[in-house]
Amino acid sequence: MDEKALFKLSYGLYIISSSFEGKDAGCVVNTLHQVTSSPIQVSVAVHKDNVTQQIIDQAKRFDAVVLTQDVDMDVIGTFGFHSSKDINKFEKVSYQRDQTGIPYVNEHVAARLSCRVVNQLDVGSHMMFIAEVEEAEVLSQEEVMTYAYYHQVKNGTTPKNASSYQATEEVKKGWRCTICGYIYEGDPLPTDFVCPICGAPASVFEKL
Ligand code: FE
Repeated sequence: MDEKALFKLSYGLYIISSSFEGKDAGCVVNTLHQVTSSPIQVSVAVHKDNVTQQIIDQAKRFDAVVLTQDVDMDVIGTFGFHSSKDINKFEKVSYQRDQTGIPYVNEHVAARLSCRVVNQLDVGSHMMFIAEVEEAEVLSQEEVMTYAYYHQVKNGTTPKNASSYQATEEVKKGWRCTICGYIYEGDPLPTDFVCPICGAPASVFEKL
């Protein structure tokens, strides 16, 4: 079996978020899809270890925003490579709340959906939520970020909790950030280097 076949699938890049009893959480996903049009329903798969999954499971609601190509990599770093357990991710970005109080990132996003979970399916490592879209809004006409653009143009990496993560993805030479997996192609690694994705210092990089 050639697992690289899965790299031929195309995806977008999104931040989903939720809030329950005053605790906000959000994370980056590439697993948001529209599944029906009447009513408008979407699905999203989220790793069970993610705080965001646990909050959605309690709130039975989430918001989703479509990231645009001009999004800062540190926003992806914050929402994709840190845990809502450790930090309040929304403190680091511009955001608003929907009519039910769920926060959503409102800069460098093309659209926002507010969704009510109507069904969910345990798929092993991930929980798949099916949700009805209750609010929807176009926020900009910027080009949307695809997963391919993130990898090829932004030199982005895939966290271990992502549905599409494959250990074989890392084949480059250089230094790897042990926090987010970003690879610096070159040697030596400058001592004042800061990871462009997660903000970690050079000291946490390991030589490949
Ligand atoms: Fe990093």
